[in-house]
Amino acid sequence: MKIREIEAKTLLSKAKEPDPWFGILYTMNLYRGCTHRCIYCDSRSECYQIEDFDGEILVKTNAIERLKQELTPRRQRGRIGTGSMNDPYQAVERKFQLTRQALAVIAERGFPVHIITKSDLVTRDLDLLQEINREQALVSFTLTTVDDELARKVEPFAPLPSARLRAMRSLRSAGIRCGVTMMPILPWIEDNPDNINAILHAAADAGAEYVLPAFGMSMRDRQRDYYYARLDELFPGLSRQYRQRYGNQYQVPAPNAAELYPLFTRLRTALGLADHIPQYQYHPPAQQPALF
Ligand code: SF4
Repeated sequence: MKIREIEAKTLLSKAKEPDPWFGILYTMNLYRGCTHRCIYCDSRSECYQIEDFDGEILVKTNAIERLKQELTPRRQRGRIGTGSMNDPYQAVERKFQLTRQALAVIAERGFPVHIITKSDLVTRDLDLLQEINREQALVSFTLTTVDDELARKVEPFAPLPSARLRAMRSLRSAGIRCGVTMMPILPWIEDNPDNINAILHAAADAGAEYVLPAFGMSMRDRQRDYYYARLDELFPGLSRQYRQRYGNQYQVPAPNAAELYPLFTRLRTALGLADHIPQYQYHPPAQQPALF
């Protein structure tokens, strides 16, 4: 894959308030594109303007300098999220270490983070996550299946689910709060009770506190074209089923989502898993009492 270095004008994008799903106030993307190249990835959509998603990775070489400028002491405290548009621990991170450097800045400035990843490389940064955890560090591992063979098909260049679960176990035993983003759940591939049951049991066993579910996927333009082409190779005949049921819909709910939700609720309750991420509350340091 080609690597192209670019300069970012700004790094953090701030929401009005933390989003209710991931609890993120600031979104941080250190790369554009993602070497994991999951067959369903939404970042292929035209709106994100990544022209050659499957051939090129863009690296924001000035990202750390920007982060230092933008993360001033006067900034409103809130979780910095990374991992929704690309994986912060994708393959290029081994060389460029932008995520590691960004975490060092975040630790020093005392902000909380929520990292979403499919990679066990996150364990490399345990030391920094522990520092950040004085405020709050959350790591969500994405699991759409725990079947390594199926994952090789749908997430061909990402670390296997078994490696993600091992990583979660090791972060949890070091005191980092972890959970699972169980999304997307691909119609007719992953939307079966056995898969949901296996993910929830594996998550609980690895020490997850929460599982955030989405039974279905999104689909638009280039993302859809790529996904259907891969389905034709991997699951012959399935793209026709998708076309017939969903046409050009953006929201693509799993056909049996209505049955899976109650199953999910029953199982996650029995296993002691939450369906939302922990709260974050900023506690400003106590004022020094005046001496005179
Ligand atoms: S890990 Fe996430 S961002 Fe990367 S290719 Fe897969 S779905 Fe896309």
